[in-house]
Amino acid sequence: MKVICSAERQKVHYPRSFLVNGAQQPNPEQPGRVDRLLAAATAGGHEIVAAVDHGLAPIAAVHTPEYIRFLQHIHERWARIPGASEEVIPNIHPDRREASYPLSAVGQAGYHMADTACPIGPDSWESIYWSAAAAATAAALVRDGGDPAYALCRPPGHHAFTDLAGGFCFVNNSAVAAALLRGRYDRVAIVDVDLHHGNGTQGIFYRRADVLTVSLHADPIRFYPFFWGHAHERGAGAGLGYNLNLPLPRGSEDDAFLAALDRGLEQVAAFAPGALVVALGLDAFEGDPFGGLAVSTPGFAEIGRRLAALGLPTVIVQEGGYLCDALGDNLASFLAGFEGA
Ligand SMILES: [Zn+2]
Repeated sequence: MKVICSAERQKVHYPRSFLVNGAQQPNPEQPGRVDRLLAAATAGGHEIVAAVDHGLAPIAAVHTPEYIRFLQHIHERWARIPGASEEVIPNIHPDRREASYPLSAVGQAGYHMADTACPIGPDSWESIYWSAAAAATAAALVRDGGDPAYALCRPPGHHAFTDLAGGFCFVNNSAVAAALLRGRYDRVAIVDVDLHHGNGTQGIFYRRADVLTVSLHADPIRFYPFFWGHAHERGAGAGLGYNLNLPLPRGSEDDAFLAALDRGLEQVAAFAPGALVVALGLDAFEGDPFGGLAVSTPGFAEIGRRLAALGLPTVIVQEGGYLCDALGDNLASFLAGFEGA
């Protein structure tokens, strides 16, 4: 399978700050994730291809102009504030999205950042841009050729809304891929198997009937992202019925995960999409530092097998999955399963 990655460019974003229950800890979304995943893809015999520069158009298809400008320029503006932190971290938020848009860097950081898990440093935009370019490159290959492709995106994207960063995510790479596929296919489905609910992806397509969003994840009643991912969220307006959330009890193992996946895939089949985006988080793994679900390494192969059985042109987009001994093995397992090995 073609693996799209511009590793050096995607590694310069190096977030340091991360608050866990109010306490500072190292940020788990580390550049080394790229090396682990790329090494596994290379060892698996996959063809590594650099991302093609698609410009801003694929990003602008799913994000607002003011948000893109914010991501591009906020760090240099922030650095001019006397005494400001080295990374952009918000400390004030509007209580709702209809609030007025501020001019100040501090105000805009609060407006465009949902939480403190996605600090922006001097080189963040470079990695954000090329991560999105990897998704766009993979989607263009699938759109034009049909063979599946894997975008090794980092930073990840599924917590990013149209104008809001959050949870290590800035540009929604899975949404970028889906929007690009819509250029050829009338209907596109996104299946998100990350440990966490794909709240940004849901938000972007919530009122649309042309993109079905399905997410399997640890029940958000006591887990990030808390405010989204519940089963009753089914879409709105024209999009009512085109969002499916499948929350799972904490600690769920392969059997429960695969049963939920089958429910999601039934919905996908009924939607009859022309193409599929897999938002591939590997953090549902039993040994992932987040410890939310308990999917095994062979379990990822079975997830890949069942997604491939849809027989659709497919873009696989890397989402979460954090540093642990089996991170690369889990990717290798998924890709081998997807390819029927
Ligand atoms: Zn995750």
